[in-house]
Amino acid sequence: MKLGIVGLPNVGKSTLFNSLTKAGAESANYPFCTIDPNVGIVTVPDERLNLLADMYHSAKVTPAVIEFVDIAGLVKGASKGEGLGNQFLANIREVDAIVHVVRCFEDTNVIHVDGSVDPTRDIDTINLELIFSDIEILERRIAKSSRGARNDKKLAKEVDFLQRLKAYLEEGNLAIGFELQDEDEEAWFAEYNLLTAKPVIYAANVSEDDLADDGASNAYVQAVRDFAAKNGSEVFVICAQIEQEISELDEDERKMFLEDLGLKESGLEKLIKASYSLLGLISYLTAGETETRAWTIKKGTKAPQAAGKIHSDFERGFIRAEVVNYQDLLDCGSYSAAKEKGLVGLEGKDYVVKDGDVVLFRFNV
Ligand code: GDP
Repeated sequence: MKLGIVGLPNVGKSTLFNSLTKAGAESANYPFCTIDPNVGIVTVPDERLNLLADMYHSAKVTPAVIEFVDIAGLVKGASKGEGLGNQFLANIREVDAIVHVVRCFEDTNVIHVDGSVDPTRDIDTINLELIFSDIEILERRIAKSSRGARNDKKLAKEVDFLQRLKAYLEEGNLAIGFELQDEDEEAWFAEYNLLTAKPVIYAANVSEDDLADDGASNAYVQAVRDFAAKNGSEVFVICAQIEQEISELDEDERKMFLEDLGLKESGLEKLIKASYSLLGLISYLTAGETETRAWTIKKGTKAPQAAGKIHSDFERGFIRAEVVNYQDLLDCGSYSAAKEKGLVGLEGKDYVVKDGDVVLFRFNV
């Protein structure tokens, strides 16, 4: 899963990104090593892994990971090519979801590009650039398809769809709110890969004082919440500066530091959870002596496709899956004990994998 961090200059994107990468770089094994300076890998905290690894005496624990991309340089006029604008927009096209950082902190030392703190205006500025870019894509499609549409009913239907979608965006709406009428429209919509069709998490960047009550007394945060509620998006409150400080602590210090601030978890953990739920993701687990590992899948994924996450051969040659809930497994103390109690299910290709399933795939090579 790949998340892109966007927002106006000076709202705290790099600060957040640096704290994410710092935390990521220090945590356990992940299957990537060299990373682009604008791409950071963050592991998904998952207590279940360590418990299973203890039981199996696993040599290695590999958590699920999320990739973050720092998409700096999105400014007013980006869609018209200002400040390398189009290049940044192309980067956004590749992500699964967007983290939109919004400045909700006052600080006279940090200049705001538009002279004042105003979350709604800032969100509109960024979203408009994304909308302009999407409209351009739709216009190109319309130009390409219109000629053939005279003799092709399907193409004519698509042109009509394109025009309605374009009109919707021209009213300042995000594509994600557009109601799709049938399967054709769903397929076309997915194919266009519009920027404003991507799910968004709004990260309200507040000062340290606003953290304890989750920004409840901060009117800027309220403005972000109002906006997000209208668009069915999630909001989470962070203080990027504090995240950066937290990322430099070791685990024990981190716990104490958070307790002092009256917090249960770091903003980073909140962000990861929010993105998991936003994208409808869950983790299933594999466990053994060599490695205990979490794998990210979409909710509703069936066993063969889940197996394909590990290796395409697993999907192609899928025979069945042996499945046990991780808690049942821990309670029994061993795989064989769980099996004796009848808690290990033999599942076929229609089985929908659940969060916390410990799975052993059987397959033909
Ligand atoms: P970017 O341009 O969006 O990447 O913004 P930066 O992360 O570079 O932050 C711009 C400036 O704002 C830097 O001087 C940061 O130290 C400062 N900054 C970032 N987050 C916070 C915050 O939560 N509170 C305060 N007071 N300053 C912040």
